[in-house]
Amino acid sequence: MRRKLAAGNWKMNGLVDDLSEIKALTEAHPDPDVDMLICAPATLIAQMAWARGTHALQIGGQTCHAERSGAHTGDISAPMLRDAGASHVLVGHSERRTDHGETDADVAGQAAAAHAAGLVAVICIGETLDQRESGHALTVITDQLRGSLPPGATAANTVIAYEPVWAIGTGKVPTTEQIGEVHGTLRATLRDLMKQAEGVRLLYGGSVKGSNAGEIFAVADVDGALVGGASLKAADFSPIVSALE
Ligand code: PGA
Repeated sequence: MRRKLAAGNWKMNGLVDDLSEIKALTEAHPDPDVDMLICAPATLIAQMAWARGTHALQIGGQTCHAERSGAHTGDISAPMLRDAGASHVLVGHSERRTDHGETDADVAGQAAAAHAAGLVAVICIGETLDQRESGHALTVITDQLRGSLPPGATAANTVIAYEPVWAIGTGKVPTTEQIGEVHGTLRATLRDLMKQAEGVRLLYGGSVKGSNAGEIFAVADVDGALVGGASLKAADFSPIVSALE
């Protein structure tokens, strides 16, 4: 059985004052039946790890460099994230692919670095609206998965997040049929690529909120969500966690 995962992505949001949301979230779900993860801006990881106290809340970074250390001004390595208190890291989010030109090969390198540092890599993939409308969504996400999954990926060290680019921050959500089709295709592709395919958790992301979480989580092969905007406030994220429990 795959344990459900409610993951939040704070993106470039959050100051020390916002850690009150972590307190509220952990108080609302003191002993959750699902895994809870917040991918924080790097500046907050260590303080978030302190703010969670003894709660099982997991903390992640939002990207990492493929190298362990070196002359890369402004970048953050996987061992640094781990050292700050992270157990996970997002790699290949569409905003990184767009803003920083990251390719599938870059993402695979980052995921391998995450694994080497003992982090779980949450590998993000998803098609654009053009690719969806031209009927290429399944080919695109299959190619991205093949290109972004590093050798050595296991069910324990890898999570896949399907996030259609056109659904991120737009309030638009694919139909449950479309989500089911993609997640089924991802599971089948994973079976080709690795031994532990059945154990890998597949998250859906893109405009998930309390009001649509229940129907999305009822779709086969949806093992949780990656949530942007609705993860910033405990009052918005908490109903999503509850919908998974
Ligand atoms: P959203 O973002 O929930 O605000 O659409 C999701 C994401 O980009 O991870």
